[in-house]
Amino acid sequence: MNVLVVNCGSSTVKYQLFHMEEENGDNVIAKGVVERIGISGTNLEYQAGDRNIVREKEIPDHRVALEWIVDILTDPDIGVLEDVSQIDAIGHRVVHGGERFTDSVMLNKEVLDVVRECAELAPLHNPPNILGIEACRDLVPGVPQVAVFDTAYHGTLPEYAYIYPIPYEYYQKYRIRRYGFHGTSHKYVAGRAATMMGKTLGDLKLVTCHMGSGVSFAAIKNGNSIDTSMGFTPLEGLMMGTRCGDIDPAIILYIMEKEGLRTHDMDRILNKKSGVLGVSGISSDTRDIEDAAPSKHRARLTLELIAYRAKKYIGAYHAVLGGLDGVVLTAGIGENSSYIRKSIFDGLEHFGVTIDDEKNTVRRREGFISTDDSRLKVMVIPTNEELMIAPDTYRLVTQRE
Ligand code: ADP
Repeated sequence: MNVLVVNCGSSTVKYQLFHMEEENGDNVIAKGVVERIGISGTNLEYQAGDRNIVREKEIPDHRVALEWIVDILTDPDIGVLEDVSQIDAIGHRVVHGGERFTDSVMLNKEVLDVVRECAELAPLHNPPNILGIEACRDLVPGVPQVAVFDTAYHGTLPEYAYIYPIPYEYYQKYRIRRYGFHGTSHKYVAGRAATMMGKTLGDLKLVTCHMGSGVSFAAIKNGNSIDTSMGFTPLEGLMMGTRCGDIDPAIILYIMEKEGLRTHDMDRILNKKSGVLGVSGISSDTRDIEDAAPSKHRARLTLELIAYRAKKYIGAYHAVLGGLDGVVLTAGIGENSSYIRKSIFDGLEHFGVTIDDEKNTVRRREGFISTDDSRLKVMVIPTNEELMIAPDTYRLVTQRE
């Protein structure tokens, strides 16, 4: 069975085509990413066997990105499929499944309607996910599609971690609670961390730090997520590319009143104009901020905020876990930025951690970045959400047949 896994992020589409004979097989026959969608200078990457293709092309939206992906997979010269009919199933990462979905499901009209209802809870993510599902339905008609939800892995949060201290009736009326996101990523890297440490996941206390344009940390005890930084929506928690993360909620009311803003405008400010972009005034991409840091105070300040806020969460999760064996860094920033990684752990020596500068040069591959004698292990583990989505897609589609 050929399973195409599609992961539509806010500005990226990642894809992997798996040939699977069994649920846990992971034979990747082609993969790649379309980056900076809707931003100038879109990069398109495609890897299949020893072919490694990088192109630059203007890609305005996710639908056009998926058209390019299907075209290249079936290209007579460099493709791996003769025809789209050789795609047997498609698995999608879907960000918000509400309380309704605590596991993956086959996509049908009813499920898609619920995903649409959840879109207001994840305004940057469910809309691209839905576009991806609809585009695949049109480009590869009749193929079964599966949704794997980011919220599902955090279904193990204890009640005291997911209830907010606001009137309880809002939980009862509107299901306002912490859901958490990036679940497939946290689950994947936690499993890999246990393997790298030569331990059983059930014996470990971990903090997993997913740091891409969206950022979320999770406290993982015995393989279960017991707390996570994103909440009712992906807006809570750490500072992100364009999202503010934790702020005093009264700031929102104050700005709205002072500037005469409506909720839609305020939502845009918090989700699209804040975070790295908001503080730096330069870009939402930390690469641009690192480049600007030597000459611009606000770029340096942005990097300080990122590290300081990350440190505070690691400290808080150390407390709720009752100790800490390992910290995992993943996603765009976690996998690449030696500078940000180092600055997060500067000053945490009392946790028993020292970063090895030589090891900390690692990029986009697995490796320890703490010194060999560091009691607390720090690892870089490239996330592979697609690898978690393929087995669920295979399982649900074969069960159905
Ligand atoms: P998404 O969250 O959209 O799926 P990623 O996980 O790929 O995206 O993260 C994208 C972010 O990672 C970029 O906005 C950028 O801030 C950061 N990033 C990617 N590569 C690097 C790099 N080489 N150095 C520093 N930051 C990087």
